[in-house]
Amino acid sequence: MASNTITVGNVEVLSVKDGFSAKRDPTVTFPETDIAQWREFPSILDSNDEIQSRYGSVVIRSEGKLLIVDTGMQTATGGKLLDDMRGKGVAPEDIDIVFLTHLHPDHVGWNIDLSTGKPAFPNARYIAPRSDYDYWTQPDVLAQAEHVRLHVMPLTELDLLDLFEDGHKVTDELITVPTPGHTPGHTSLLIASAGERAFILGDVAHSPAQAHYTDWNPMFDIQPDISRPTRHRVLDDLENEGTLVSAGHFPDPGFGRFVRLEGRRVWQGI
Ligand SMILES: [Zn+2]
Repeated sequence: MASNTITVGNVEVLSVKDGFSAKRDPTVTFPETDIAQWREFPSILDSNDEIQSRYGSVVIRSEGKLLIVDTGMQTATGGKLLDDMRGKGVAPEDIDIVFLTHLHPDHVGWNIDLSTGKPAFPNARYIAPRSDYDYWTQPDVLAQAEHVRLHVMPLTELDLLDLFEDGHKVTDELITVPTPGHTPGHTSLLIASAGERAFILGDVAHSPAQAHYTDWNPMFDIQPDISRPTRHRVLDDLENEGTLVSAGHFPDPGFGRFVRLEGRRVWQGI
């Protein structure tokens, strides 16, 4: 069985999850695709021609700090992020920093524990890209974004949210990398420690099928004309450099590499 933990130099990365999405018709999620293309990926597509997305987060230990990257959906099918963390030895109280790649509902869902109305990570600062926060808090966008009103604005009111600019160093080993398009301020995280590197992808890609069909934009991309070139650039770089990747929506535990086999780029989970 694949391990839930990887080490990158002196950094430890633990895969946790908030369950899985409902099963979906992939040609609805990815409107430019047809089912014959999806059938090229029998490990992704189930026998009913449907796909299911994992709501994955990672817990990162770096320079004495404990981070969680993204906080799931909470209301998702089987959404149990805090229980999954505890089962893997991490208490929500231990988290120092909650790092949000972007402010979509399935990435901020456990910022606030809806059963108590309090932050689910009581000892943490929450950090998010300023450019994404600026987008989502525009009055007309915010009016349509209940998840931001429930899971982001309370953090602002409690003075628990810090906004960072591009190229921010969370620790000396964790550097933010702007990867816009999926949302305007979407941000990935580069881990670089003791000569080793790994990349927390966020929603640059949602399915391993995009390793090959890199043009495919899911319906969730807010700026598809920006997300597509971002995806090409990022996946090309990760492939060329052989970088270890953590992909939150890819199959459990979401660690792997983009590699080229017989002329075709594929996702190779580890
Ligand atoms: Zn997203």
